[in-house]
Amino acid sequence: MSDQDWRQKYLAALEQHEQDEKQWQQRQNSLQRLLVRVSLVAEGQDGELDRLLGELRELVREGDPDPGALRRLQDALETHVSGFDEERQAVVSRLQQALQGLIDPLRSRAGRNERRQLRALERTPADTVGRFNALPGILEQLAELQQQVLSESGDAQKRGSFWQRVLGGGADVREEEATEADSPDSNADEPEDSELAAGLDLDSGEPRADDEQLRNLCARLLQLLRHIQQHITLPEPAQERIEILLERVRASENWGQIQAVLDEVVHLVVAAVGRGQREFEQFLAGLDQRLVRLRTQFETGALDFGHWQEVSEAFDQRIDQELDEMGSSALGATELSGLQQAVRDHVDRLNATLTEYREADTKREQALREQVQDLQEKVTAMEAESREVQKELRKERERAATDMLTQLPNREALEERLDQEYRRWHRYREPTSLAIIDIDWFKGINDTYGHLAGDKVLQLLARSLRENLRETDYIARYGGEEFIILLPATPLETAVTVLDKLRERIQALPFHFRHERVEVTFSGGVTGFMEVDGPDQLLDMADRALYRAKEQGRNRVIPAAEQDKRSGGGR
Ligand code: GH3
Ligand code: MG
Ligand code: MG
Repeated sequence: MSDQDWRQKYLAALEQHEQDEKQWQQRQNSLQRLLVRVSLVAEGQDGELDRLLGELRELVREGDPDPGALRRLQDALETHVSGFDEERQAVVSRLQQALQGLIDPLRSRAGRNERRQLRALERTPADTVGRFNALPGILEQLAELQQQVLSESGDAQKRGSFWQRVLGGGADVREEEATEADSPDSNADEPEDSELAAGLDLDSGEPRADDEQLRNLCARLLQLLRHIQQHITLPEPAQERIEILLERVRASENWGQIQAVLDEVVHLVVAAVGRGQREFEQFLAGLDQRLVRLRTQFETGALDFGHWQEVSEAFDQRIDQELDEMGSSALGATELSGLQQAVRDHVDRLNATLTEYREADTKREQALREQVQDLQEKVTAMEAESREVQKELRKERERAATDMLTQLPNREALEERLDQEYRRWHRYREPTSLAIIDIDWFKGINDTYGHLAGDKVLQLLARSLRENLRETDYIARYGGEEFIILLPATPLETAVTVLDKLRERIQALPFHFRHERVEVTFSGGVTGFMEVDGPDQLLDMADRALYRAKEQGRNRVIPAAEQDKRSGGGR
């Protein structure tokens, strides 16, 4: 390293040293100023401390204090401050005690809210209490609370709480009670009363009042209990409880016992009033529901008239019953008179609605009855008409089935009857016969004596035939001067004999025209029922036999033969 280098290095070190020294000097100055200010802040707490701090400041201001002198001063300060710390704790503790002393008397008179604030104040930490600049705040708070508590308890004293009024004996209170005697339950509505009672410091159990005050209180309490008994209907167990309480009041000897009774009375009354209102609400809700249900049923037509009557009567009864119950229990309380009116109004409205419904119902029912009656009359008339029409129809049918000239069944009637007989024969196979007869030379009668005479012949002949046949035989005019006879239960041979006898009778009939005897005869063909294609075939067979009778000279009856049984054809 050259000289030059050494010289450089020395100059740099020198410069550094000068800077360091300057910095040190600045630090020392600010430390000195700090020390002087702190010592000034600490002044005024203690005489000895003030003296020591003054000495410290002198030393520091010298600029370059003597280290020996500084150490001595430091020792002296330490010794003194340690004693001072103990003393400070003792001061804080005394301050706390003093604060408590201020709070305690307030607590008994404070309301719930103030009591809470007092508790917070009590719990102020020791280090806060110890800070002398915190003290004004604490004291201000306390003063404010004190103001509040004192003024409020004063008001309460003037106004008189529920229990004070109950317990108090002054003339003012009596006056007030007299005006409020009609509504004692309004007092019972205040649940804070139990708290107020606690606020009156009755729970100490210590006789605080003299005997006269206690007697006065007991008398008022007895009065109150009797009032409750008279005006509030309580449930059975509560009534018994009131009796027990009455006994307890009579026997009570100190404030503590009275306090317990008071608490219980408050609960009883609150419970009773609460119970009444609940019942009342339930009653109303139930009533409404029932009406809505009823109306819905009615509107949807679920109720018929008979049922509706039943339901509405039951409904009426139920309302009466519930009103009785309500009236004799919770609604009996004077306090609930407003509610009582409300429920009666409500029920009145419901009843009005019900009456409306019923009136509308009666009208509807009446209208319906009239309608039904009207309808019944119409039905009766229609039935009569219908019977008449049926009779006419029957007659008409008969007319349609009867030949007007001879009054015998006509061809249509015959065909129907022939079908029946053939079916019957088919089922029972009972011998049945069919005959067809035709007047001989009838054209000649018409031609000789006129059509009217011919008609007369037809009528007389028909009557004679009918009269000479059995009831069970059937005769019809088949057309012109031809007749068909059905003979049930008659075999062919018998039928031929019957027909022959008829023929003889007809021949014997004394017909006279222009005083001249005229002989009328007929020819007949007879067949027994047999297995054929249908009843028409039987007619054909008889007709063929008749044809032969005509051929053989007329005025005779011929049975059908085997050869007549061929389908189709005719005469
Ligand atoms: P036959 O012995 O062959 O039967 O001779 P007929 O004259 O009876 O036979 P025909 O069938 O030729 O004549 C039947 C007559 O009967 C013809 C018709 O004028 C007459 N006649 C049919 N119906 C009636 C009637 O209701 N009243 C009258 N007065 N005559 C009738
Ligand atoms: Mg003929
Ligand atoms: Mg003839």
